[in-house]
Amino acid sequence: MTDPKVRLKGLIRLQSWINPENACWEWQGQISNSGHGRIMLSDENGRRLLSAEQASFIAFHQDLPEGAGVRQTCNNRLCVNPEHLQLVETQTPTGETLQ
Ligand SMILES: [Zn+2]
Repeated sequence: MTDPKVRLKGLIRLQSWINPENACWEWQGQISNSGHGRIMLSDENGRRLLSAEQASFIAFHQDLPEGAGVRQTCNNRLCVNPEHLQLVETQTPTGETLQ
């Protein structure tokens, strides 16, 4: 059986367009109301709806820790280039909000 992450990588590449000017991988798939790409992910943890950047981060880097988010360092909401994605720990155990 194909590794779900390998499948996900293929899906992300297929649904994004690489902008030659800034190297952003611009998401061409479904877009949510908030203006972010979205994708349905099925893996060993079940089926869930993720933003495209979260899915890309999971596929190319690692699973997201509980409560963590992903942001684009290039400030392009549709970018899914793993090189432009950064993990954001939204909350520390004390509930403090980090940048
Ligand atoms: Zn980018």
